[in-house]
Amino acid sequence: MTVTVNYEKHPCFNVKVKGQFGRVHLPVAPKCNIQCNYCNRKYDCVNESRPGVTSTVLSPAQAVLYMDKVLEKEPKITVAGIAGPGDPFANAQETLETMRLLRNRYPELILCLATNGLGLKPEYIEEIAKIGVSHVTVTINAIDPEITRKVYRWVRDGKTVYQGRKGAELLLQRQLEAVKGLKAAGITVKINCIIIPGINDHHAVEVAKKMSELGADLFNAMALYPTAETPFEDLIEPDALTMAKIRHECEQYLPQMRHCTRCRADAVGLLGADQSEEFHGCLISCSK
Ligand code: SF4
Ligand code: SF4
Repeated sequence: MTVTVNYEKHPCFNVKVKGQFGRVHLPVAPKCNIQCNYCNRKYDCVNESRPGVTSTVLSPAQAVLYMDKVLEKEPKITVAGIAGPGDPFANAQETLETMRLLRNRYPELILCLATNGLGLKPEYIEEIAKIGVSHVTVTINAIDPEITRKVYRWVRDGKTVYQGRKGAELLLQRQLEAVKGLKAAGITVKINCIIIPGINDHHAVEVAKKMSELGADLFNAMALYPTAETPFEDLIEPDALTMAKIRHECEQYLPQMRHCTRCRADAVGLLGADQSEEFHGCLISCSK
């Protein structure tokens, strides 16, 4: 089929259109394959979200029904993304099925995914490229396993759970391979890097440098949002000045995203003018 997507209309990747076009996150991915020390799964995925309870989880068919209703009411939506509430590739079948159904129904829709990268294996990269997923975000908080290990409690690959250095090495290896593979497939890649004081704040620039070498397109340094009942709950959120300095350093290597609004896994609307409340009833009715 011919895909007639105008990629310029992605408000996260193109700041010029952030006030014109919006996105919807489809919460079809409840499970996760790692445990970040800043995440409390009772709340949400901070891969692409501020902590906030995700309202519900949809099946792929329900996600399409919801998409129909959203587009009916809000034609400014140009992007459908999956950003949790867990990880898209810890729920690969649901993720791929949702993307396929949406592509068939809406040839002009921009399809987008946000992942920690662990489960984004070469066969899935091939598959999403075939479907026409054009934008992928990978959250990479460090490129040194000694730092990576401080960010994650565990990493699960199939039925095996790894901790410490071994888990960090596996995650890092998969993340680097994922970025390389995505670029080889012609997909636009954004790197999210959560800035965690005392853990990786001095190291973000190294992440940006490495990602630039791998061909990533955009870098989104995001301030840690300390979440209750997590190992990082007592850390202080980096202030605006600190973030400005880090972004300035990282900008030597990659363009910076400075307009991220840390959306929920079920966010909908223009960035900064979220309509989740307005669509809440619609989302819940589609999940039944
Ligand atoms: Fe939470 Fe997302 Fe990390 Fe999984 S990848 S633990 S859902 S922040
Ligand atoms: Fe865009 Fe940031 Fe929201 Fe993701 S979390 S949809 S990158 S604004």
